[in-house]
Amino acid sequence: MHHMTLAEIARGLADKKFSSEELTKALLARIAQLDPQLNSFISLTEELALGQAKAADARRANGESGALLGAPIAHKDLFCTQGIRTSCGSRMLDNFKAPYDATVVAKLAAAGTVTLGKTNMDEFAMGSANESSYYGAVKNPWNLEHVPGGSSGGSAAAVAARLLPAATATDTGGSIRQPAAFTNLTGLKPTYGRVSRWGMIAYASSLDQGGPLARTAEDCAILLQGMAGFDPNDSTSIDEPVPDYSASLNGSLQGLRIGVPKEYFSAGLDPRIAELVHNSVKELEKLGAVIKEISLPNMQHAIPAYYVIAPAEASSNLSRFDGVRFGYRCENPQNLVDLYKRSRGEGFGAEVQRRIMVGAYALSAGYYDAYYLKAQKIRRLVKNDFMAAFNEVDIILGPTTPNPAWKLGAKNSDPVAEYLEDVYTITANLAGLPGLSMPAGFVDGLPVGVQLLAPYFQEGRLLNVAHQYQLNTDWHTRTPTGF
Ligand code: GLN
Repeated sequence: MHHMTLAEIARGLADKKFSSEELTKALLARIAQLDPQLNSFISLTEELALGQAKAADARRANGESGALLGAPIAHKDLFCTQGIRTSCGSRMLDNFKAPYDATVVAKLAAAGTVTLGKTNMDEFAMGSANESSYYGAVKNPWNLEHVPGGSSGGSAAAVAARLLPAATATDTGGSIRQPAAFTNLTGLKPTYGRVSRWGMIAYASSLDQGGPLARTAEDCAILLQGMAGFDPNDSTSIDEPVPDYSASLNGSLQGLRIGVPKEYFSAGLDPRIAELVHNSVKELEKLGAVIKEISLPNMQHAIPAYYVIAPAEASSNLSRFDGVRFGYRCENPQNLVDLYKRSRGEGFGAEVQRRIMVGAYALSAGYYDAYYLKAQKIRRLVKNDFMAAFNEVDIILGPTTPNPAWKLGAKNSDPVAEYLEDVYTITANLAGLPGLSMPAGFVDGLPVGVQLLAPYFQEGRLLNVAHQYQLNTDWHTRTPTGF
């Protein structure tokens, strides 16, 4: 049962081959058996899941249908879930039960999904390895000695290990696409504003975007359909109609113009990944696509700009965790300053504290112009590069990551080395563009992803290209040994 995709589950439920309750019980048992190896969940919500599964079965018995009705999923543990711990991977929120559901959680629940639990993640979504969680590192099911990518590593590891068909995730600088690449999944970061951020604990508000992680583009289309849409509670949510993503999957790629940026193939890229990227290009050419070399000249400035803007926004967003209103509070504070200092010092881990310090510095009087303002100007240049490129091509293709998943602990002593791994993903967040990573081969037994970027609101185009690719390749069907 656990090998089924969302699309297969929807057909099985519609044909009464099994009930949502049976499927939910089977997956909960599988999680109990296998997750101790992976640590992909922070909380399991068995009772909620069984209640939702029974309710979904009753709705089907009453004649309702829907691709997500009775489908088991999990939420990254930064989506608020009413009455359930929402930890954001941090000691700071270890005791926090959200008083309300995030819009994404509420929308998916209304569509009939079954929440199996809350998935592990880097603390406050900061990281590219899922090693900074208060609840311990997540392991990559393809090789338990390697990281699954971050910050949505729990969602990725769980889906890759067939503990469940799909999960929600968020992407501020690559946290959907990079773990998708590292675990052989398909992951989509939508256009900024496409999916509501209400109830999604903020890391960097101008970059954060929720999206689906699944094994196929077809399943990403199904899950995105349940997540996307205007939300009056989120002032950056965009009031644009949501297209039928599943209906967009079967377009012909004949004449599709694919741009391959020359800057992507620099010294930092593992040549074996470069070869797999070229293979994927050839595959798409066979399907009728036309390839064109393009240039994104400001790409080299994107990492420094991102690692000023994201920490600046984080330092502001995380100021609410003061030990007073909610979250962790230190023992026996001597006075107010002691309360703040120790609550934050003990509640936040090292990487979060580093980002807060970098951000506060970049925003401080005297440095604001030199760092924050400069970074914002680079952000505009990065966006302009993309706008120019999309005058010539329909889609941009390249590697998702410069290297495959590294060994646990390999980059712990060098945060900048880890930041550099985000080189291909962060530009889409700076520009607000949609991006997708899809499985494209293996290096040393570890999965490799290819990234596709499209103009604003062209999620359907990304899903279409990935689906056509997946109809003609079988990388996405490969299963990690032991799972
Ligand atoms: N690795 C990036 C960071 O640490 C992106 C994380 C994310 O997308 N949430 O900021």
